[in-house]
Amino acid sequence: MHLCYVDNIPKLVNNAFPNKEPWQIVAMTSSTTLAMVWLWNFIHQDESLVKRGKKQLFKLARYVPYIRNKIDKELNDVNEIFEKDVLQRLKEIPFIVHLPENGLKDKRILDLVNQSVYLGDYNWKSGRVSGTVYRHDSELLELVGKIYSIASYTNPLHPDVFPGICKMEAEVVRIACHLFHGEDTTCGTMTTGGTESILLACKTFRDYAREIKGIKKPEMVIPITAHAAFDKAAQYFNIKVHYVPVNPHSFAVSIPAMKKLITRNTIMLVGSAPNFPYGTMDNIEAISELGITYNIPVHVDACLGGFLTCFMPDAGYHISPFDFRLPGVISISADTHKYAYTPKGSSLILYRNKKYRHYQYTVSTDWPGGIYGSPTINGSRVGANIATCWATMMYFGYNEYVASTKKIIETTKYIEQKLREMNGIFVFGTPATSVIAIGSNKFHIYRLSEALSAKGWNLNTLQFPSGIHICVTYMHTEPGVADSFIEDVKFELETILKTPNIPVEGKLAMYGTSQSVSDRSIVSDLTRYFLDSMYFTKEN
Ligand SMILES: *Cc1c(COP(=O)(O)O)cnc(C)c1O
Repeated sequence: MHLCYVDNIPKLVNNAFPNKEPWQIVAMTSSTTLAMVWLWNFIHQDESLVKRGKKQLFKLARYVPYIRNKIDKELNDVNEIFEKDVLQRLKEIPFIVHLPENGLKDKRILDLVNQSVYLGDYNWKSGRVSGTVYRHDSELLELVGKIYSIASYTNPLHPDVFPGICKMEAEVVRIACHLFHGEDTTCGTMTTGGTESILLACKTFRDYAREIKGIKKPEMVIPITAHAAFDKAAQYFNIKVHYVPVNPHSFAVSIPAMKKLITRNTIMLVGSAPNFPYGTMDNIEAISELGITYNIPVHVDACLGGFLTCFMPDAGYHISPFDFRLPGVISISADTHKYAYTPKGSSLILYRNKKYRHYQYTVSTDWPGGIYGSPTINGSRVGANIATCWATMMYFGYNEYVASTKKIIETTKYIEQKLREMNGIFVFGTPATSVIAIGSNKFHIYRLSEALSAKGWNLNTLQFPSGIHICVTYMHTEPGVADSFIEDVKFELETILKTPNIPVEGKLAMYGTSQSVSDRSIVSDLTRYFLDSMYFTKEN
């Protein structure tokens, strides 16, 4: 019976094409197949059909001379504003755009450097800035300066020449493995910053997935609140990103939504502990379980809070598990140049097991310059960054890190509580460590940011939805700083609430309206002009 049916198939097919020549059938089949493949590829691209359609429309609109001229004019105007802004920030100090004919005297160089370093209107030394500088300790500064001077020309690319620099790097990595409860096999590398740590994790899991699982079209599933460095990694390494929304109350990533976005091509899942915008912590335990269930590596971004969270239990504060104690967590990024208070230029990327770290390395075996292996993105590396990081960790020691963490969390909770008592603003979710984000349903929150900026406070602005945040550092724990912040917020709030419907003015007005520009390529162009302005010199 069954066989009979199979025997009938050729007859059925022949009957379906009664008047067609064999070549016609072949042509029809192959063109249909090709069309299907094309359609499949067309639909399954990095971006949704609607998104691409919209982009195409905006692109076409730019071919209309009237629209193009208008956009070009706007961009030019903004570019001029950016350049004017730079000149204002630099207080009309002349630019040096050629080498001095003869070298300058030390004194003159020092004067010029001092002049440059102390430009800027915000008093970052007295805690008027959110995040940015995490500690300013004059004794440590002295020590770090000496160490930088000894180690400034060293380079761990040459372990035979500078074996001790490599030893210091290995020790910092091992110390961090212990702090994050790694196993004996847990390992890692130092990097130049959180962005490099994240880039490397993404590269590692992309290459791991390609070799072990044969994934050729890598995708990663990340919270919408994950750091922009993941976007950068996606752009550099050609990884498709699925953004997971956050729960609208907790502002932590939605676990059911994350689960739905996992596909056969998922190379990694990401959770932040905590995230930069809201300072809220994703449910790393649940993400770890997803990782185990689907056999996908989980990366925990602890760049911001890693060196607080690991000391919080001993400082007397509860923190949900986020580190290698969770079996699904395969890698952790943690910035020493944030709450380990080292000079800028150091961070860590850690892996549960050496087999992952191997995928981070790049090796060129056939280069005429020799067999070339390097662990991170850089070739030559700044040995002094390793030495100053190592020295800073030795300088503070475990107990001082615990004590500092206690002060920072205490101060954050104090500010959070006072902000919650104020009318007209609300706090996003529950701050897990040191970041408090606020918004308002009564007025445009950027107005508060503008008003505080006029009083010398530099906060971070958030979008979708509009918000501002303060990242509490050791500087904010100094006597009087938190209270003066709270008083200034209270005072400005009262003023704003008298006229809640006035729109945002000043610098943040553009930032505010940029959220409603649906052609994001214009916002991209604006951002590129902004970056250009950083390299603007008045004289050429
Ligand atoms: C700061 C930060 C990063 C990136 O660090 P950089 O050192 O600026 O490159 C990544 N993730 C989070 C949550 C951060 O706060």
